[in-house]
Amino acid sequence: MTDYVVEGPLQTVAPVANNSSVFPVRRIYCIGRNYADHAIEMGYNPDREPPFFFQKNPDNLDFSGTFTYPEKSCDVHYEIELVIAIGKGGKNINLDNATDHVYGYALGLDMTRRDLQGKMKEMGRPWEIAKAFEKSAPMGPITPASELGHLCKGVIDLKVNGELKQKGDLNQMIWKTAEIINYLSQYYELAAGDLIMSGTPAGVGAIKKGDVMVGSVEGLGELVVTVI
Ligand code: MN
Repeated sequence: MTDYVVEGPLQTVAPVANNSSVFPVRRIYCIGRNYADHAIEMGYNPDREPPFFFQKNPDNLDFSGTFTYPEKSCDVHYEIELVIAIGKGGKNINLDNATDHVYGYALGLDMTRRDLQGKMKEMGRPWEIAKAFEKSAPMGPITPASELGHLCKGVIDLKVNGELKQKGDLNQMIWKTAEIINYLSQYYELAAGDLIMSGTPAGVGAIKKGDVMVGSVEGLGELVVTVI
């Protein structure tokens, strides 16, 4: 038994659908601008440029069905995303068997302090404070690929207070699940417990306290999150 000199962090775990066992979270990678129509709405080239990534922290996850409006921003945006849960790690993972490394899929929200992100972009600085803040990643339970198969098409959408805001199809992802795993694993050693947020379709926008966000992906059901 190791003695810590201060109180240690708890292992973050994600629920698994219809299972009392849980998924231990190691890292959260997020890909930027992975749907052409979202790249265009943000003012960028929708072509297939090399992907780029940022991270959130495991303890930014929130499975409570709420999103706590953060400090230091008055323009907080939703981004509904398919979350890929890695079940088997590796380096330089081959494209051909990349999806063998997926444990399952979930719905997640990449909540973003858009005003702070804009300032950081202007200054050429990292987006950290816009993306990796407390409770910035509401997420639903993981459904194993062994039950679901691999999700490569199907509607992904988000409603706020019943009004459709975001809509796309998983087949519009510029970099597909296997390609993301192949690419990321050339720069990082992936491991079981890693999550990858795979990007958001067009229609991002601001929320306020009291709003109810309902995200869905065909096959995965819904993620309902109330802003508090
Ligand atoms: Mn995102």
